[in-house]
Amino acid sequence: MKILVAVKRVVDYNVKVRVKADGSGVDLANVKMSMNPFCEIAVEEAVRLKEKGVATEIIAVSVGPTAAQEQLRTALALGADRAVLVESADDLSSLSIAKLLKGVVDKEEPQLVILGKQAIDSDNNQTGQMLAALSGYAQGTFASEVAVDGDNVKVTREIDGGLQTIDLKLPAIVTTDLRLNEPRYASLPNIMKAKKKPLETLKPEDLGVSVKACVKTLKVEAPAARSAGIKVKTVDELVDKLKNEAKVI
Ligand code: AMP
Repeated sequence: MKILVAVKRVVDYNVKVRVKADGSGVDLANVKMSMNPFCEIAVEEAVRLKEKGVATEIIAVSVGPTAAQEQLRTALALGADRAVLVESADDLSSLSIAKLLKGVVDKEEPQLVILGKQAIDSDNNQTGQMLAALSGYAQGTFASEVAVDGDNVKVTREIDGGLQTIDLKLPAIVTTDLRLNEPRYASLPNIMKAKKKPLETLKPEDLGVSVKACVKTLKVEAPAARSAGIKVKTVDELVDKLKNEAKVI
């Protein structure tokens, strides 16, 4: 079984992001970039399926600038067999990314596509769902457990009320939630081996996809700074402040 894993290059989760002075976006100059954490979980799940003998090939795919090769090399070091970069320097909407991923799905015909549930930079949580709609594949989002059984895959989903288990007919799309697995670190020998694994670069035109902008960012603002807390000496003082200052009781 072939598995396609979508990997996004994002600002590292440890970075405190700064908004550009003109409010046009986040300042990415000299900022550490990494693989989106939910995509790391997606790669890990694919690698585990390969280790179990369920998957035969793992292809990592990213849509982004030339520099996204770094994250694809990380996916290769973690266990992907080959990688595809759909190169675009534009700030693409989720719909454009889903259309480009659909182009790769049509070309590669994977049985399973694993994506993160959301990218931590834009928090969109929509690419997997859009890809499922465009490709007509079954979808299981927010997965905390994935079990392939013949032509089906059972996905346990994290939903508000608890856990929901669904049975999908392959080919299917799964998006990963935090508890699905704990991703491994790439070992130095595997990082070295990854340099020699195949990485194909495509342009959106090669996939016959036009990536016209359909969403315009009007403004990006940093959240309002929180005012400092205070210490109260007695419970009476606390109750008084809650009643008369915060007016919450
Ligand atoms: P989002 O819908 O933007 O929150 O992203 C959800 C998931 O879609 C990510 O975790 C990735 O697996 C995938 N994805 C989003 N953008 C890209 C991209 N530019 N390249 C590859 N995969 C992406």
